[in-house]
Amino acid sequence: MMSYDYDLVVIGAGSGGVRAARIAAGYGAKVAIVEEYRIGGTCVIRGCVPKKLYVYASRFADSFQIAGSFGWTVDAKFDWPTLVSNKDKEIARLEAAYVAGLEKPGVEIIRDRATLVGPNTIRLVAADRELTAGTILIATGARPFIPDIPGKEIGITSNEAFDLPSLPHSILIEGGGYIAVEFATIFAGLGVHTTIVYRGERVLRGFDEDMRLGLEAGLQSRGIHLMYETTITALRKDGDDVVARFANGVEAPYGAVMFATGRVPNVNGFGLAEVGVKLTDGGAIAVDDRSQSSIPSIYAVGDVTGRALLTPVAIREGHAFADTVFGNKPTIVDHSMIGTAVFSEPEIATIGFTETQAAARGDIDVYIARFRPMKNTLSQKSDRVIMKLITEANGGRVLGLHILGPEAGEMVQLAAVAIGMNATKADLDRAIAMHPTAAEELVTFKAPTYVYRAGVKH
Ligand code: FAD
Ligand code: NDP
Repeated sequence: MMSYDYDLVVIGAGSGGVRAARIAAGYGAKVAIVEEYRIGGTCVIRGCVPKKLYVYASRFADSFQIAGSFGWTVDAKFDWPTLVSNKDKEIARLEAAYVAGLEKPGVEIIRDRATLVGPNTIRLVAADRELTAGTILIATGARPFIPDIPGKEIGITSNEAFDLPSLPHSILIEGGGYIAVEFATIFAGLGVHTTIVYRGERVLRGFDEDMRLGLEAGLQSRGIHLMYETTITALRKDGDDVVARFANGVEAPYGAVMFATGRVPNVNGFGLAEVGVKLTDGGAIAVDDRSQSSIPSIYAVGDVTGRALLTPVAIREGHAFADTVFGNKPTIVDHSMIGTAVFSEPEIATIGFTETQAAARGDIDVYIARFRPMKNTLSQKSDRVIMKLITEANGGRVLGLHILGPEAGEMVQLAAVAIGMNATKADLDRAIAMHPTAAEELVTFKAPTYVYRAGVKH
């Protein structure tokens, strides 16, 4: 049998690659991981983690707004450099923890850019040398997609947004997805005049309609200006400002312009085509349910496979790959019931089918609760919590749960356990409410708000 330098070389030390490398090394494999930027990848360095820290920073604005109704007088001022530098310290701490987590089971960390030169060979670009491996795992993630318009290089993406030298007086964010709405609420909460420009008719396409409507109202109540059904067609500098031209020819100046127009898999410029690794129509690495590519010795996990661009999914895929290939425990990741949270303000969390999807599949019951969070009842703040539970007809299995409001992610994460066990309406009803909470609404729904029978809403 041919001998290789390593049993496994992982390209990319993000969520998926780090987990796969650690677990494979734990099974006794000789593992190296190659990373060209920082250990931890998008989620830790410039994604989920700094994003959530900035979300916390921005949410103080809402608390200050209602503080007076509880008797507090607040004279609050915000200092952006303090937030950025504290964030940097926390990210450095986490990166060090990731490095330690890799080194403990004996993973060799190589800081370089990797390119594929054969089914079992990679080249390190800076070191200018080759490594061989029995198995290669590609976990190179994704990067921001930027529309090809004149002046696009003047715009920023989420990569730059975390480290702006100062807060802009205003920002225009293009897109209507996760990053657009999360960053819009971050910037608006920190006092920046914020505008979203989106080509569609309402933000968060694909989410349940009531969540989209509730979020739209929440964004507007925070002073975020929404421009629909148009795009940015050009950018140019004007002094310190960026002037955006829209599809109708109108121009307007902003302190900064940010593209949140999706992310594309990192598949270019490192030899995939040369080695014969096949891509999907969407430009991601095509893999089977064990994450194996068209080349048997090459596997891929995480964003680069375009299955679901979420950290826990990348981690699960990386772990399953290591169990399957190095742990003698064949494991297939179930992508059918993936919960997700949008850390906008208000927050949204969701699992399962939307009302439209569920109604297209059969008879369903829909339970909806709308109420003011108790924390706001002493103030004029008018935000509503929306909870929507969708079950099979007559109290059957839960098909979908959608929550908009404070701690929506925390609530849906726990409900996901019950839903994954095929919980029915009766299972939820059996739980005794905890009072006063918001989540108790989920176990106290009486009659459906409306039902669908044979596709007709009653
Ligand atoms: P990544 O984490 O992107 O890691 C890939 C790594 O490969 C990178 O470090 C890159 O430098 C390296 N690399 C690429 N090419 C090479 C090469 N040729 N040689 C060497 N190294 C290379 N997900 C959530 O679940 N919750 C959230 O709240 C959330 N928030 C997000 C917020 C933002 C702003 C962004 C951008 C993303 C967010 N995500 C969130 C998505 C999440 O970050 C990704 O799904 C996750 O990081 C994917 O992990 P990965 O291992 O596939 O890739
Ligand atoms: P999304 O796919 O969520 O949204 C992209 C948005 O950009 C959509 O509104 C899309 O419009 C629009 N768009 C795409 N192309 C163009 C174009 N050429 N011109 C104008 N608009 C365009 O991507 P994001 O960048 O927001 O985030 C990437 C992924 O990262 C997410 O899908 C998610 O999986 C992950 N993520 C997860 C988070 C979380 O879990 N909380 C947070 C942040 C990111 P349309 O709807 O019409 O297609």
